[in-house]
Amino acid sequence: VTFPAAELEKLGVLGHGNGGTVYKVQHKRTSKLYALKVVHGDGDQTVYRQVLRERDILRKTDSPYIVRCYETYEKPSGDVALLMEYMDAGTLDTLLHNRGTFSEPELAHITRQILKGLSYLHAHKIIHRDLKPSNLLVNKNMEVKIADFGVSKIMSRTLDPCNSYVGTCAYMSPERFDPNAYGGNYDGFLGDIWSLGLTLMELHLGHFPFLPPGQRPDWATLMCAICFGDPPTLPSGASDEFRSFLDCCLQKESSKRWSASRLLDHPFLVKYYQGTDSC
Ligand code: ADP
Ligand code: MG
Repeated sequence: VTFPAAELEKLGVLGHGNGGTVYKVQHKRTSKLYALKVVHGDGDQTVYRQVLRERDILRKTDSPYIVRCYETYEKPSGDVALLMEYMDAGTLDTLLHNRGTFSEPELAHITRQILKGLSYLHAHKIIHRDLKPSNLLVNKNMEVKIADFGVSKIMSRTLDPCNSYVGTCAYMSPERFDPNAYGGNYDGFLGDIWSLGLTLMELHLGHFPFLPPGQRPDWATLMCAICFGDPPTLPSGASDEFRSFLDCCLQKESSKRWSASRLLDHPFLVKYYQGTDSC
């Protein structure tokens, strides 16, 4: 799909973020619906840089678990717009507030899709860095897709040991060969796994895990709870598999967290999908 922005009609606002606005739009000729994220060039420079980064990342990604971006528009004024697939059931955040908490089988279905998205991103060296219910889009088929790449990061290897360090390779520490496997970037990729754990716990409890229901986030309290407290745990009634799954995500020591691809084989997911997986 490629067509000029003039062929689109704005039908309403889907969401306001920090700086940009996401509109529900319709392509006049085909009546097909899309989401259009618009950021003005004359606004906040940080927001502007973020939408450019998001554009660059969405151009690189091609996965059923990552929101699709079909077209980007740039005006001489500097305005940038991203034409994305329209996710007609909103976000996991709005679903949680409109229909209540999710059961374990529902969460397993959701989790599997997020993990497929994360393992795709991580394999392409992309760290999302802002995974949370309002950045996970849903459609009527209960397909879940990762969105909002404004603060994501593409990891690049700054040194290529085998080219620039010929002869001294034998003395290099493991993480200099493979930072992802040995620890150099643990707060990177595995940071997304922590966020996934908190997201799932929130979808199960109905409120953000580190705060009692209804309490407004006070950042100092929250930071202390996250840094100095124990990771949150599930109430009684949760299955052992779900409990163990969250335990694998919510390790404070990042090196103890499981990777996205390893988590896809966790008993919590295997329990609901016994070899029936096609993609
Ligand atoms: P921000 O960086 O401003 O948070 P997001 O990409 O998260 O931008 O979009 C803000 C909100 O707009 C989302 O939380 C969601 O409610 C809505 N939205 C964004 N993209 C889509 C989409 N493709 N389909 C439907 N709603 C969307
Ligand atoms: Mg967002």
